[in-house]
Amino acid sequence: MLSDADLERYARQVIMPDVGEDGQERLLASQMLVVGAGGLGSPVIFYLAAAGVGHITIIDDETVELTNLNRQILHTTHSIGTSKVDQATAAAAALNPAIAITPRRERLDAGNVDELLSSHDLVIDCSDNVETRYLLGDAAYRTQKPLVFGGAVRSEGQLAIFHAGAPDSPCFRCVFPDMPDAQQAPGCSEAGILGPVTGVIGTLQALAAVNWILGIGGEQTGRLLLFDARGGGFMEISTARRTDCSTCGG
Ligand SMILES: [Zn+2]
Repeated sequence: MLSDADLERYARQVIMPDVGEDGQERLLASQMLVVGAGGLGSPVIFYLAAAGVGHITIIDDETVELTNLNRQILHTTHSIGTSKVDQATAAAAALNPAIAITPRRERLDAGNVDELLSSHDLVIDCSDNVETRYLLGDAAYRTQKPLVFGGAVRSEGQLAIFHAGAPDSPCFRCVFPDMPDAQQAPGCSEAGILGPVTGVIGTLQALAAVNWILGIGGEQTGRLLLFDARGGGFMEISTARRTDCSTCGG
């Protein structure tokens, strides 16, 4: 049952037939894991907190640097040198003090990934390196948790939802079978990144996560959305489960 304060805070979404009081209660009861409090994590964390996702865990082991600030809008010039998860937690709590935010100042690794995924309803990949992406992709399959994947570099972005529990859904490794090396997939520090591109992709990740909990938006798996900020706009390609996948095949 929503409190009067909840009804007022979330009034503009509760009034929507797609949300209603039932949907808001589901959002408030949901537990989401956000991996990375950087360029993608910034819009994700802000919008999940604003929407009233009741339990948000943020994991990141980095500190804020001046070069982060063209895109990582959770952080401020004053927070340079401080922990990203602490800053992200403070920013999200300032926006919405009525939800629970758990900061984990550590790196996601093989030792903690299954425990973290198992204790959440859904995981959002806002990481910036391929090792974490493959670790998360495989763990999401093992633990049967929905994974909202996002990536952004230069002027391009990608978005997909993987859910091993959905019929015929590919896993992350079905779509990205081979881990690229640094030359094939340079990070933002080598290739550059336009801040609004992470804003577009991160915002779509937050929307996908909220839609997932609300059960709206139709079939969300089996598609890879590509975004080209240099005039190409959005393009969607179908993805499929691979019987020879080293994670979920045969
Ligand atoms: Zn697979």
